[in-house]
Amino acid sequence: MDDQKNYFILSFYHLISIDSPMEEVKKHQLFFESLDVRSRIYISSYGINGQMSIHKTEVEKYTSWLTSNPIFKDVKFKIDSYHEHAFPKKTVKVRDQLVALDMKLDLSQRGEYLSPEDWKKILEEKDEGILLIDVRNEYEWKIGHFKGAYLPKLETFRQFPQFADSLKEDCDPEKQTILMYCTGGIRCELYSALLKQKGFKKVYQLEGGVVNYGQRIGEDHWLGKLFVFDDRLAISLSEKGNEKIISNCIHCGKPSETYYNCANMDCNELFLSCTDCAEKTLGCCQPSCQNSNKLRPHEKTDRPKPFRKWYRYFEKN
Ligand SMILES: [Zn+2]
Ligand SMILES: [Zn+2]
Repeated sequence: MDDQKNYFILSFYHLISIDSPMEEVKKHQLFFESLDVRSRIYISSYGINGQMSIHKTEVEKYTSWLTSNPIFKDVKFKIDSYHEHAFPKKTVKVRDQLVALDMKLDLSQRGEYLSPEDWKKILEEKDEGILLIDVRNEYEWKIGHFKGAYLPKLETFRQFPQFADSLKEDCDPEKQTILMYCTGGIRCELYSALLKQKGFKKVYQLEGGVVNYGQRIGEDHWLGKLFVFDDRLAISLSEKGNEKIISNCIHCGKPSETYYNCANMDCNELFLSCTDCAEKTLGCCQPSCQNSNKLRPHEKTDRPKPFRKWYRYFEKN
């Protein structure tokens, strides 16, 4: 494996009113033409949410270009290094919603930020009265989360408003202290505003999400790995990277934190597997998937990449 970390992975978001998202998208696309960059950047009328990998010699070019735009002057970047690109292509798009939520929110009323340092301090006080909510999906939670955190049982995050309503019946929204966290911080910006709108008074959010916490504090109070939405899929919060695996292979039950997309392209389900079982099952999530006539060949690897679009497989092959 080539371990030379010549690429930087940037993640950032900024909530601000943008008059013409399409114009900002076009500016990005033009600027990206000459750069060694792969991205997933979404711009809406209320902000930008971006992730990208870029050659280390060009990071400065992009960050100074972006922040020279008055709209984006306050963007803060979280930066990590990697040995290759972590995204499949250069994507910059307009999106109506940066976070899945079908209601209008007053974004001036968001949860108060807690710095990673204050967050750690509060967790160490072990106040049983605090509700620590994980605002991520179950597949993210499975491979890693804060000790003592609660994962709302939701099919999709569009059900978060109903969850907030049921929470109101279980506690006193005026008095209940709620701490919430997500991967990079943007989901908490919106869902904390939602809780405030529902009448919760003491709502706090982890500033910069778990990514920022990991970079500033490390793995204290965190179990397992952090799921990320790029080719890495899972990262360690500690430098050492020898944290305990808290999830299991769906086939044999052995500890595993490696996600595969089912090789049956009609299924494509994300599931956890050990490398042995992945090989035995041809990379499939269940026996019936192995009989599919749209089966991708399974490549043996302990670092599978997420598989997004089946037609791109046919383009390449
Ligand atoms: Zn297994
Ligand atoms: Zn399957």
